[in-house]
Amino acid sequence: VPALIKESQMSSVEFQGVSKKFGGTVAVEKTDIAIEQGEFFSMLGPSGCGKSTTLRMLAGFIAPTTGRILVNGRDITDLPPEARGIGIVFQNYAIFPHMNVFDNIAFGLVERKQDKATIKRKVEATLAQVGLTGYEGRFERELSGGQKQRVALARVLVIEPEILLLDEPLSALDKQMREEMKFWIKDIQKSIGITTVYVTHDQSEALTMSDRIAVMNEGRMLQIGSPVDIYEKPSSRFIAEFIGDSNLLRASVTELTDTGCVVDLGEGVAVPARVSDAVSVAPGEPVGLLLRPEMVRLMPAHDGEKPRLSGKIVDEVYQGALRRYRVAAGTHELVVEVPNRPELVRMAAGTPVDLFWSAESGVAVP
Ligand code: ATP
Repeated sequence: VPALIKESQMSSVEFQGVSKKFGGTVAVEKTDIAIEQGEFFSMLGPSGCGKSTTLRMLAGFIAPTTGRILVNGRDITDLPPEARGIGIVFQNYAIFPHMNVFDNIAFGLVERKQDKATIKRKVEATLAQVGLTGYEGRFERELSGGQKQRVALARVLVIEPEILLLDEPLSALDKQMREEMKFWIKDIQKSIGITTVYVTHDQSEALTMSDRIAVMNEGRMLQIGSPVDIYEKPSSRFIAEFIGDSNLLRASVTELTDTGCVVDLGEGVAVPARVSDAVSVAPGEPVGLLLRPEMVRLMPAHDGEKPRLSGKIVDEVYQGALRRYRVAAGTHELVVEVPNRPELVRMAAGTPVDLFWSAESGVAVP
């Protein structure tokens, strides 16, 4: 019994001291990650940050230079890809054009020499799962991009892998289909409960779909956390700027508090700020005060409640759902987004304005 309890507490995927060098290039620095059973875990970062290399080491296409990789507690570092219990979906579908949908999905089962009745049952169940019942006779050229991606996913799910790897699976789709598939993949992943590792350079995909995100740059995992953590308490400027829109005001730490710190914005303006658990700051240290454009409230200047900053409208950009104001406040310039409601009082360039935000909205980033 103790062995069973131990197993249930094990992470699904573990990287232990894994690194990868190609000649003189360090693609992935020494990395430790523990991905939980059933978790949707994304690796997010710009081109060349090492996310695909990390995924390919897990899939078994590339051998790590150092370290071990475990799947459900089993060391798979030296196993070939087909023996790892891993299914992988790429952005370019990899559907056989000369086979219909049924045969494409059946392919892995035929290779595994399963009997006809089992194959029929499993393919039909998987078709239903991905919403393609009735499409079994179609060929690749008769499918939309989104349908092709469903077939590609079905081909992998039908062999019942322990771990699902998705390498930029939505990048070949148009924007609208990408939006739709984001939610669809997330739903299907949750309904099966399969541990999933997702690679993307698209922050909105990562924020929407993930239980946790690892933000990568230059071969390093800079921060690992929930979408809320990563967006609301980034641990560095790189992350603050890579994810979402950000204002980063030049500031310096004046004192530490229970909830973070107080920062000085110059000209005697002191404001509270939170700090990511992943970093520490010290009094006197220069930091950026991160204020997301949607966290700031903008009002025409008036003699009421004391604002955190005062300034003037520089310009306004119409964005449909939002109006985006640029505001100059002393030595700072920041962008403020206002939901575009009919009652919105629009402010012309030059209008004196007051800026307000809650104590939780500002984050000090080193
Ligand atoms: P992209 O989104 O562009 O695929 P990525 O974040 O997935 O980028 P990787 O493909 O993992 O990044 O590449 C990480 C680094 O390793 C890059 O500097 C890349 O040039 C290098 N690299 C990747 N594969 C090889 C290889 N086979 N040989 C030599 N260098 C490689």
